[in-house]
Amino acid sequence: MNTSSLPRIAVLATGGTIAGQAGDASKTAGYKAGVVGVDKLLDAVPALASVARIQAEQIASIDSKDMSAALWTTLSRRIDALLAQDDIDGVVITHGTDTLEETAYLLHLTVKSTKPVVLTAAMRPSTALSADGPLNLLNAVTVAGSASAKGQGVLVAFNNQIHSARDVTKTSTYAVDAFRSPETGVLGFVQDGRVEFQRGVVRPHTAASEFAVVDQWPTVEIVTSHADASRVMVEALVAAGVRGIVVAGTGNGSMHATLTQALADAVKQGVAVVRASRVGSGHVMRNGAASDDALGTVSAGTLNPYKARVLLMLALASGAQDLQRIFDTY
Ligand code: ASP
Repeated sequence: MNTSSLPRIAVLATGGTIAGQAGDASKTAGYKAGVVGVDKLLDAVPALASVARIQAEQIASIDSKDMSAALWTTLSRRIDALLAQDDIDGVVITHGTDTLEETAYLLHLTVKSTKPVVLTAAMRPSTALSADGPLNLLNAVTVAGSASAKGQGVLVAFNNQIHSARDVTKTSTYAVDAFRSPETGVLGFVQDGRVEFQRGVVRPHTAASEFAVVDQWPTVEIVTSHADASRVMVEALVAAGVRGIVVAGTGNGSMHATLTQALADAVKQGVAVVRASRVGSGHVMRNGAASDDALGTVSAGTLNPYKARVLLMLALASGAQDLQRIFDTY
């Protein structure tokens, strides 16, 4: 086989269950994430050799529940550097599933290239019977090497599906079909070497985004509204000097009256407050469940609280004032 015509893909490993190890192959819950090195992950998938020419880097070895904004900065800059090279056609990132949607959305808004960037992961550790990581990795490399993935922003290849980084979210604690794009559905599929997109990505991203990673990130925290909510969390956050608060509101982004008052006071003290929903699907309307005009708050639209936090961090880091425009645009 003439391999010189195959796409050249950089695989950046960060850890996660895809690199997880258990003491026994029957274990799918009791294991340690992020311990198996990228070379071993690649060795487990001989079929990769007929899909792409691969170069690998171990960027981190963490459980993605411990992902940091500093690592986002490192990752985003490394991806940009690699994609600026003529001899790299795409990037695949192996990641834990827990915060994959946050990293994916961050990269979707900061990477400045139209070349494919694809995240993948696994729900079962690499040592498990029926581990899902090897096929997910093969599929992610296949998507990254596909001409049809160019210009689609950052993608997530998981369980034969292709999702947009903007819309995808983890929806199951243990199922291997853990990811969904609740409001929009999948972008397409990847199966047995075939990559097929059924729709495109409408909102701006990557090279068309106005955002960039920074060395010092503004502090943005998430507060949940629930029965019997109090002012305690918001007052503590304001006292700690946070720049922004995302509210995981009830239903359509509504908030307990006590919390609403605390947040209105936070806005008066210069804290940016964004209303999202804890429900898991649907959108939050500006001036819908609460008067954003009167409170000085912003509605998150279809972004879940975790993604709204990513966008608010980027917006505050960029110095933007028109936060509602940003949430309406991205
Ligand atoms: N805790 C793991 C992680 O996010 C879970 C996984 O990868 O599925 O790294």
